[in-house]
Amino acid sequence: MSPSKSEPKPRPAPIPDAETEPYWQAVNEGRLIVQRCTVCGNSQLYPRWRCLRCRGEVEWVDASGGGTVYSFTVIRQNFSRSFRHLIPYVVALVDLDEGPRLMTNLVGVDPDAVEIGMRVRVKFERVSEEASVPLFEPA
Ligand SMILES: [Zn+2]
Repeated sequence: MSPSKSEPKPRPAPIPDAETEPYWQAVNEGRLIVQRCTVCGNSQLYPRWRCLRCRGEVEWVDASGGGTVYSFTVIRQNFSRSFRHLIPYVVALVDLDEGPRLMTNLVGVDPDAVEIGMRVRVKFERVSEEASVPLFEPA
């Protein structure tokens, strides 16, 4: 018997490519990493081959996992089986302490209690046997 159409599914697993594979591998190990330019020191995500600021070579460095809510919205309708059981949930832009801005979900917080400027911390949620995704919760 096939699973019910109403049965919740996990969040969609990432589909790594050559540029994002190191990032998703680290996330799967419970580490958040960002790219840092070896020339000018600029930090960036999502991953690119070169520094967005000066085209210098980039390296991967560990992020602290801390960040600040730059902006957010509360999702109150989503028909996807991966998300509708989570409603209402918070989609947020989080400024990592290293600089890059990340789109993510905030968890472990009442959506009505989320505020711009709120300090948050990364946590990892396993979505399949070989993949996890980074989410954020109040620090
Ligand atoms: Zn640079």
